[in-house]
Amino acid sequence: MSAEPEPRAKLDCLRCPSLCCKVAGYVQVSDHDIRRLAKFLGLTRRAFEAKHIVERTRAGKRRIKAEFETCQFLDGKRRCTVYAARPKDCRGYVCWEAADPTLHRIAQFLQTPIVAQQEIEATERAGRRARRQ
Ligand code: SF4
Ligand code: SF4
Repeated sequence: MSAEPEPRAKLDCLRCPSLCCKVAGYVQVSDHDIRRLAKFLGLTRRAFEAKHIVERTRAGKRRIKAEFETCQFLDGKRRCTVYAARPKDCRGYVCWEAADPTLHRIAQFLQTPIVAQQEIEATERAGRRARRQ
């Protein structure tokens, strides 16, 4: 039987270089997302799709961000320029609840002072030792 994963610490997104908008994976958009984004940008749905859909899957899914690429809607100050109309994929995402823990580890490392980082690592090591016993 596999052990329950450790709960991950919540982070302060304002102190993060928006890693999730850069590398967390693709962002898929539904018809509803496209309607909302097109309206927000003053475009027709067709014009929005022509300009902003960067990938289409064989199954017909549409994406505004490709995996491992920076989202086209992230500005130079790391702000989402369509925040009020952002897709459902973005609204539901926080790295501390993502299936893959990698991004959370990087984001946590970037915003944790070294002394606190060492304490976290010591706690993790102690937890691993306790689980092995
Ligand atoms: S990677 Fe995590 S901490 Fe950074 S902005 Fe995204 S959810 Fe917030
Ligand atoms: S739409 Fe906004 S929140 Fe979503 S990935 Fe792009 S910049 Fe980030």
